[in-house]
Amino acid sequence: MAAGGGRTPSEELHKRRTAAVSRGVSNMLTSYVDHGSGATFTDVDGREWLDFGSGIAVTSVGHAAPRVVEAVRAQVERFAHTCFMVAPYESYVAVCEQLNELTPGTHDKRSALFNSGAEAVENAVKIARHYTGRPAVVVFDHAYHGRTNLTMALTAKNMPYKHRFGPFAGEVYRVPMSYPLRDGGLLGSVAAAQAIDMIEKQVGASNVAAVLIEPIQGEGGFVVPAPGFLPALSAWATQAGAVFIADEIQTGFCRTGDWFACSHESVVPDLITTAKGIAGGLPLAAVTGRAEIMDAVHPGGLGGTYGGNPVACAAALASIETMREEDLNAAARRVESVMVPRLRVLAARHAAIADVRGRGAMLAVELNHPGTLTPHPELAAAVAKACHEAGLLVLTCGTYGNVFRFLPPLVISDEQLGAGLDIIDAAFTEATAR
Ligand SMILES: *Cc1c(COP(=O)(O)O)cnc(C)c1O
Repeated sequence: MAAGGGRTPSEELHKRRTAAVSRGVSNMLTSYVDHGSGATFTDVDGREWLDFGSGIAVTSVGHAAPRVVEAVRAQVERFAHTCFMVAPYESYVAVCEQLNELTPGTHDKRSALFNSGAEAVENAVKIARHYTGRPAVVVFDHAYHGRTNLTMALTAKNMPYKHRFGPFAGEVYRVPMSYPLRDGGLLGSVAAAQAIDMIEKQVGASNVAAVLIEPIQGEGGFVVPAPGFLPALSAWATQAGAVFIADEIQTGFCRTGDWFACSHESVVPDLITTAKGIAGGLPLAAVTGRAEIMDAVHPGGLGGTYGGNPVACAAALASIETMREEDLNAAARRVESVMVPRLRVLAARHAAIADVRGRGAMLAVELNHPGTLTPHPELAAAVAKACHEAGLLVLTCGTYGNVFRFLPPLVISDEQLGAGLDIIDAAFTEATAR
């Protein structure tokens, strides 16, 4: 479909985009989206894409999920906004009830709603500092927690997230992450003991307000810590009087085959941050946790104009209902059972694949120069490009840009998964032959 001047509709839009949108906001694709359904979307040029990214783990219930579409439509017709702090409404309360029920632990809980993941993380830190009266926040190598000033400080990677955006917020301390491929395969307990020793010597246990960790790291490279790492840190935080915060913004809401990734090791966080997959594509985020911690804050100390917007809350309730009714935890485990064996076959054929890892529908392969730990980001980029040329949306990530990650919508069919894997297989063959 050629538009004016011999350009395709996407090319036409890209020209307008370059003239109107800040260069600082980049685009991975140069195709512009028109509409989507389930695990596919169609661009304005009429080309169909298979989506292995879900808008970065957001549309877990699929594009245009019927319950979400209906709930959003009905809510917009009733009212779009009042500000919960001014004139409250039921759906905000209902989302908090769901969060309190679904998050790990049977203790008394409270929740508060926000707009973005970064905002949830900022608020979790505010709450932990207020509750403990302590300043220090402990974070990990390869962590990603957002792009606002405090969350840039919490995030590890300089380019592109932090470069020349400082000075950053203080009282943030970084310790080593358990990263089995790169730390010589340390036992989780040993890696945790090293991190804890560093906290005790360099920060001081009694100064720590919070230990903040992604149970499986997202942007940092889908790093799955060795078993025992999370439980040891959680136990240390409890003993030190610090708040253990699990950032489940990417891992939450059925992504890893359970409602929350902490549950795979029976870890019960004091606070948990959620966003991304919670609301089927609408912007919503939350902090959920122990009632005594959440309620320590004075009335009016938390909030915001849009936090827990009624349209986003309606979408969240519809998404959660979809996850329950369609058992999307089982769906995520099915994705793992279909994809992991195929990825292992791929790893046996391509020496650059140093690791196949992840859980549920949060899977990745890490690419290194064969036989070394030297990252191979060029190959990751070449494979991604070949996939995009074949109509499969895939994402890369990692501190070294050498991790190829898969986050398909949980409603994807086995046939669609197989088709995507065939494209990935061919893309590896093509990219390594170059
Ligand atoms: C995406 C992400 C964030 C930031 O969420 P935004 O909605 O982009 O602000 C924070 N933590 C983790 C683990 C994430 O994956």
